Amino acid sequence: MIKAAVFDIDGTLALMDKEKGTFAALPGVLDALAACRAKRIKIVAYTNGTFFAPKHYYPLLADAGIIIDPGHLLTPAAIAAQALAQRGYKRVMVLGGDGTTVPVAEAGIEVIPATKNAPKVDAVLLGYTRDLTTEGLEAVVQAVWDGATPFAGSVAPYFASSRGRMLGISGAIAAALENATDTKVTVFGKPETAGLTTVTAITGADPREMVVVGDDPKLEIRMGRRAGALTVGVTTGIADAALFNSFPEDERAHVVIPSLTQLQEQPWLK
Ligand SMILES: [Mg+2]
Repeated sequence: MIKAAVFDIDGTLALMDKEKGTFAALPGVLDALAACRAKRIKIVAYTNGTFFAPKHYYPLLADAGIIIDPGHLLTPAAIAAQALAQRGYKRVMVLGGDGTTVPVAEAGIEVIPATKNAPKVDAVLLGYTRDLTTEGLEAVVQAVWDGATPFAGSVAPYFASSRGRMLGISGAIAAALENATDTKVTVFGKPETAGLTTVTAITGADPREMVVVGDDPKLEIRMGRRAGALTVGVTTGIADAALFNSFPEDERAHVVIPSLTQLQEQPWLK
């Protein structure tokens, strides 16, 4: 029985107008969410972006008619912040923008900027930033040389944007950090399953009681399959049906649909 539905945002629930900074709901989304609510299936929105803190998204999605309950919108940085707090980290050096520093501070962790002569930290967390400097990179490398454990929200090599591929900054920094320190960076974002552990914490659903819905076969589908969830690929984003179906059977979406209009035809939602 499905108890929680985990939806990707970009290309799955909505598309962003990068110039206006607003979202438009994709076809069938509002009805699909209403159908989930009618079945008492808990809804979680989980984006792999760390550009913004979660609270940035609620009003933008609400303007598009997509209502997400408080605490039910996840980003890799928010998942990282909760996981680091749970693991007892008190002071973390963050190389990243507001999308990363805000959730870490809200989790009660002291955020140390990545600067020269920074105080000793227990961990380093990498997130998206437009303000990467040599000093920042040197600071995180020095912190890891001094014993801090390195983490990253996402290490995706690039993101899809309206202007085509955009470099995944935290992935590039993570590669540089691993190169310099010979220490593996622990990742929280998709396709790692840490996010679904957080979904369990907020919904009570085990991954086997979740459906993961997304437009990226390498991110949402891979994450869902690894955790044992039901997976639904939707072709309103970056991948078409042929791409979804090109993956080996045990990594492939269980179902591929052209839009969320067809979600209501799924047996678990009927
Ligand atoms: Mg997407």
